[in-house]
Amino acid sequence: MAGRDTRFIIIGSGISGVLMAIRLLEQGYRNFTVLEKASEMGGTWRDNVYPGVACDVAAHLYTYSFARNPGWQTRYARGADIWKYNQGVARRYGVLPHIKYGKEVCSARFAEGVWQLTTQDGCEYQADVVIAAVGRLHHPVVPQIAGAENFAGAQFHTARWDQSVDLTCKRIGLIGTGSTATQVITALAGEVPALTVFQRTAQWVYPVKNTPNPWWRRLMFRLSPSHWKHYYLQLQSETEERGKATTGSAEARAARDKVCHDMLASIRDPELRRKLTPDYEVGCKRLVFSDGFYDAIQKPGVEVITEGFARIEPEGVRTEDGALHEIDVLVYATGFDAHAYLRPMQVTGMDGRTLDQVWQDLPLSYHSVMIPHMPNFLMINGPYSPGGSASVIGIVEAQADYLMQLIDRIVSDDVLLAPKEEASRSWLEGVRELARNSLWGTGGCQSWYLDKTGTPTLNPITLTELKEQIAQPDYADFVVEPRQRT
Ligand code: NAP
Repeated sequence: MAGRDTRFIIIGSGISGVLMAIRLLEQGYRNFTVLEKASEMGGTWRDNVYPGVACDVAAHLYTYSFARNPGWQTRYARGADIWKYNQGVARRYGVLPHIKYGKEVCSARFAEGVWQLTTQDGCEYQADVVIAAVGRLHHPVVPQIAGAENFAGAQFHTARWDQSVDLTCKRIGLIGTGSTATQVITALAGEVPALTVFQRTAQWVYPVKNTPNPWWRRLMFRLSPSHWKHYYLQLQSETEERGKATTGSAEARAARDKVCHDMLASIRDPELRRKLTPDYEVGCKRLVFSDGFYDAIQKPGVEVITEGFARIEPEGVRTEDGALHEIDVLVYATGFDAHAYLRPMQVTGMDGRTLDQVWQDLPLSYHSVMIPHMPNFLMINGPYSPGGSASVIGIVEAQADYLMQLIDRIVSDDVLLAPKEEASRSWLEGVRELARNSLWGTGGCQSWYLDKTGTPTLNPITLTELKEQIAQPDYADFVVEPRQRT
């Protein structure tokens, strides 16, 4: 490895992968490849094209801090516009020529100071440093419901939306009531003849208004970066305050509870209101933010079914009360397996230690960005990263700043760097203790945040706290070894 010639592989070309590519270029590291499994760049916003797909974090905040987009038309951006923005940034910053498509990494093996990556199509790549930017909500979960294979109509997960299916005049069945389902329901209610929502657990829904960004504001943001920056910081501080409700502030929680209860009271039919009233604390699951959900769910043709599934039949879904709910298309808005992070990739680190061995009990990492025994293998937005309703972009930018410091050390001293196991365990224990006592752990609900022990796999800290905690690496927590050249 020779300084700026250091070879990097970034896995994934979503928001985090593109960010890391830009940061490498900025620091003069040009010898890198982004391996992308799909045929186009992007992650979440490429994969999710369901009706109503949007980001419920304010668009100006869901933007790289260095690549402002004064042109957002509304407070919340549509998925397609975010993807377009991401593509534009990747193009503008010179990332696109570095991306290789159709390259799903199936294994990464460390030997003699170098990472050897193999992709599904049999190609091999060597890297001195690997950066996994694979996303946490990447593997769709489709529940196994008896008889699903006999369903006569189309059925698909929201992240695999089949755009060839014409929904006009179709009766739609939708399983789930999370953030994704709420967006689909709000988009389809009243547009299709029948929408049957199968709800296992009611959700707290926080009302928001997707107000347009008037032309004068867009112009102002275009002409004056300082106005844009001011607005960005204001949104960041609002989001941070909102996040404190999850991490403990009683006042913020009380205010949020009240808004959610008030909105629920807008449901006219007492039976529907009963069905939609959760039995756990507001904010225990990721709060759903919606402009219009409560109107949508009361539209003619929309029905909420709370009985469990007996089986799926060719004509529709039979519930445990014996009723057959006839539908033409079945949509699974059933979320993602966040615990399959990095999988099914086979990762083998120092001394033949596999990721499965290191992560046998828990996805052990140091500050969510490095794994013991995996030298020069970096993660961005790894397990136990902060989350909730914060902007993931702020979080990954903070992690990227930290990673670039590690990278500079790896390159300048030509070393292998991995966190010590004890330091990682100690960090993780602290985070898990915090997480267990957060609203996500104590609020009385099930969610994708929780692992099999019932502990949230997110760090309940704010962006400001994250930035403080990872401002500078503490090299006492790392094993730093000279690289053995062969
Ligand atoms: P989710 O929050 O995990 O919700 C999955 C839904 O499917 C839940 O209602 C769940 O019910 C239901 N479900 C799962 N398995 C089921 C089964 N076997 N039978 C019946 N119901 C079942 O998934 P998501 O809505 O896709 O959201 C995942 C995450 O993506 C969010 O938390 C958020 O972080 C992110 N997201 C963000 C945005 C945004 O605008 N920023 C939009 C969409 C998604 P239970 O509640 O009973 O488990």
